[in-house]
Amino acid sequence: MKLQILGFFTPWMAYAGLTLLHYILPGRRIKGYVRHSETGEILNYRLNGIFVLILGILLWLLLALLRWVPLDWLYQVRWPGLAGAVTLGLLFSLGMVLPYPSGGKPLLADLWFGRLKNPQYKDGRIDAKMWLYLVGAVLLQLNVLSFAVHHYNTYADFNPGVLLCAALLTWFIWDYLTFERIHLYTYDFIAERLGFKLGFGCLTFYPYFYSVSLWSTMDLPNPHRPPWLTVCFAAVFFAGWSLSRGANLQKFYFKVTPEKKFLGIKPEVLTDGKNTLLANGFWGLSRHINYLGEILMGCGIALSAGYPAVWWVWLYPVYYVGLLCTRQMDDDKICKVKYGALWDAYTKKVKYRIIPYIY
Ligand code: NDP
Repeated sequence: MKLQILGFFTPWMAYAGLTLLHYILPGRRIKGYVRHSETGEILNYRLNGIFVLILGILLWLLLALLRWVPLDWLYQVRWPGLAGAVTLGLLFSLGMVLPYPSGGKPLLADLWFGRLKNPQYKDGRIDAKMWLYLVGAVLLQLNVLSFAVHHYNTYADFNPGVLLCAALLTWFIWDYLTFERIHLYTYDFIAERLGFKLGFGCLTFYPYFYSVSLWSTMDLPNPHRPPWLTVCFAAVFFAGWSLSRGANLQKFYFKVTPEKKFLGIKPEVLTDGKNTLLANGFWGLSRHINYLGEILMGCGIALSAGYPAVWWVWLYPVYYVGLLCTRQMDDDKICKVKYGALWDAYTKKVKYRIIPYIY
């Protein structure tokens, strides 16, 4: 019983510790992209995600070294931990919505999408959205490491696919926190509010669901896949990563230094004199090639454990397809309103939404 209770509160304690690290560690002060909904001023951010990640991992190692908590603790308490994260995610989301005035939407819509757009606290030292993504990412990392250690220690004939899966998820997390600043230029900041979708999404869904392929293959025997197949699975992931990271970086450089070449590609633009859209490189392949990249990364992670017939592993890429296809439609609507005829010209030039020549 004691184990269950400790497990339940493990994500709560992890989030408290990570919040403290985020608050006290030095960070870069960065001018963001979106504007304050009342003052119209561009918001500033304080970013130190990568330091919090590194220190979070070191503390996890230290706790194991001191024999306070075993390295695979998060695996051992995964079910009560999940219950704790669900409870916390729900409480947080309710707390971020109910006390604030409604914009006139039904309560259920407010609960799902939220009411506040970009809340910041402690003189901007903590931005709620960046905090959510940060603590969710670090807890996902600790879950992944804990699962990998458990598998490696438990099975003499361990499955290298499980370790590859953990390594790819680790890459995904480090990549996100290395390029944390670029996230400020994304849909989450431009269009989303803070409700259940983001709150529960980051505190519960992100750290527990994203590793579903590990959860579902952890305790299966080594399938002895040939090494070339493992290399192919990793290649699917990195092909996706190149598309996603490439597109995001190209757009970021275009926004901050519009003339600058990216990977030797000179920006080709469409303009109406007031607004400008990128229309070549990654942004000439399809209007959301980054989403295709993200889905391929999800497929690489699903395949990597070496059990493609275990249908659970596919939940992760399927979730991406659902999330990103609806997001593409929403974003196109927002862009159509914002850019008008310029957006029509862009969709004429770049016809495909996500997958070149197919969709
Ligand atoms: P985008 O990076 O595609 O951003 C969309 C915005 O970019 C538009 O609203 C518009 O904003 C601007 N834009 C669109 N087309 C052009 C163009 N041709 N030229 C210049 N600007 C353009 O999408 P997201 O913000 O949704 O996603 C960002 C990244 O995050 C993606 O890689 C995505 O896959 C990833 N992601 C990852 C998730 C995960 O869980 N791993 C979940 C969701 C997203 P504006 O008018 O302000 O310029």
